[in-house]
Amino acid sequence: MLRLHELKLPLDHAPEALRQAVLDRLGVAEAELLDIHVFRRGYDARKKHAILLIYTLDVTLRDAAPVLARFARDPHVGPTPDTKYRFVGRAAPGDARRPLVIGAGPCGLLAGLVLAQMGFRPIILERGKEVRARTKDTWGLWRRSELNPESNVQFGEGGAGTFSDGKLYSQIKDPQHHGRKVLEEFVRAGAPEEILFLSKPHIGTFRLVQMVEHMRAEIEQLGGEYRFSSRVTDFLVETAADGARQIRGVALADGSTIESDHVVLAIGHSARDTFEALLQSGVYMEAKPFSVGFRIEHPQRMVNECRFGPSAGNKLLGAADYKLVHHGSDNRSVYSFCMCPGGTVVAATSEPGRVVTNGMSQYQRAERNANAAIVVGIEPERDYPGHVLAGVDFQRRLEEAAFVAGGGDYRAPAQTVGDFLAGRPSTSLGAVEPSYKPGVTPTDLAAFMPPFVIAAIREALPAFDRQIKGFARPDAVMTGVETRTSSPVRIRRGADGQSLNTRGLFPAGEGAGYAGGILSAGVDGIKMAEAVARSMLGLPEAV
Ligand code: FAD
Repeated sequence: MLRLHELKLPLDHAPEALRQAVLDRLGVAEAELLDIHVFRRGYDARKKHAILLIYTLDVTLRDAAPVLARFARDPHVGPTPDTKYRFVGRAAPGDARRPLVIGAGPCGLLAGLVLAQMGFRPIILERGKEVRARTKDTWGLWRRSELNPESNVQFGEGGAGTFSDGKLYSQIKDPQHHGRKVLEEFVRAGAPEEILFLSKPHIGTFRLVQMVEHMRAEIEQLGGEYRFSSRVTDFLVETAADGARQIRGVALADGSTIESDHVVLAIGHSARDTFEALLQSGVYMEAKPFSVGFRIEHPQRMVNECRFGPSAGNKLLGAADYKLVHHGSDNRSVYSFCMCPGGTVVAATSEPGRVVTNGMSQYQRAERNANAAIVVGIEPERDYPGHVLAGVDFQRRLEEAAFVAGGGDYRAPAQTVGDFLAGRPSTSLGAVEPSYKPGVTPTDLAAFMPPFVIAAIREALPAFDRQIKGFARPDAVMTGVETRTSSPVRIRRGADGQSLNTRGLFPAGEGAGYAGGILSAGVDGIKMAEAVARSMLGLPEAV
């Protein structure tokens, strides 16, 4: 089989045109071509009157060797890579040791699944509830302004991305094709097959709930175990005979302890109390950069028309997204983040008395507004110096200020772009209705966000308007605050996956600073499952 990249055809091409295009591109006779499999399909909408579909295809020929030889210098033609997943090892029968996985987000879920598939019978500790009960609690904040600090958008089975747009792409380097394993596991758990070939797949929030349940059933059937409402409060660390710090287990909020010499730490970016516990236990970590800002909403129709012109509404294109970056005069980058086409802005705090925004959508992406975070990069040395958890303090200050500005009942502060750019508080909103539940309070966002953030966003919005006409329209609406863009700390690990100073602890996923998004968190979970297996089996580190 050979892989053919970058085959471009018009958006409205007839199905049989694909076969003909392959024959033409490879210069082979009809009888030579046995099969075409679409590995990836994306689009190029830079010319909105001539949008192209871009295919990556796996082509089966009667004899591929001469064609591969003929195209040896062509970077777009080559052998199809072997993406089959191979386990690094298998647990010995009767091995009584059980690794712990803290967190049942995408990272912990994939770590737990792969460990279970290798026969290691992991115990997964999750502070929140199983996904259905958690869904009710999450809606409790959105509908009744009732927050459950242990069961919400951030905490509970499925992790932070459960109530999301379910975007499943990432720009990480993935030479071992672990991303493919994540997507294949998601499809086995009920995700639509198209996620395997679309260049920007997404699954929306409801399917994620079902998938998470399917994956739990498989882990349990393989001998793994889930313990919900089990918050890890302490890390039991001893000095081993060779003088190294070695993890021996964890303590839970109910006072019980669980022993294990292998602990995957997949706690996400919002487990602030757990970061403190880790620091107290002497686990090495560093402050790291992240970004803060607001969520912006526009009519999705405006974004569709701007990006797709006359092809807006085409089913193959779906609801249009965007990705915007502006390098500001203050040496600050402002960029769009976690864009949710046809979705809603959601209340995403995990702590009482604080307001945090994020975005989600359903599979159809049919809601009237497009939303995205517009955020400014901040860094420890410049913006929150002093101590490792100063970034958490910075986030909390903004989230508290947003809570107060919103009215003190989990409504979010909001402002129209027109008022924001003119530097006056909003007293009412325009035609773009904010989707945030439990509601918004028109106000002045500049009153509580650091002036450099406000200045950077004021500079960026007109620049974004030049790329997406209408982006800075006066009635576009911004809600705040967006503070949980990534982890404020990095819990460093070595080449063997283990904490730099605590053997047996495998920091993983977004909370440890090794992932950003569902797919990359899943990939990191697989990598750490492999690292645990290597350690337990006494195998050498991965090269
Ligand atoms: P998390 O998903 O945060 O999971 C960590 C888990 O650990 C949680 O379930 C938590 O309860 C548990 N935990 C924490 N502390 C403890 C403890 N002490 N004891 C026991 N358990 C603990 N990404 C995308 O790629 N696409 C999207 O469309 C997208 N949309 C998003 C929408 C929203 C509303 C949010 C909040 C996030 C979104 N993200 C999206 C980001 C994505 O969800 C995260 O990058 C991803 O979930 C990180 O995975 P993780 O497993 O590392 O951490």
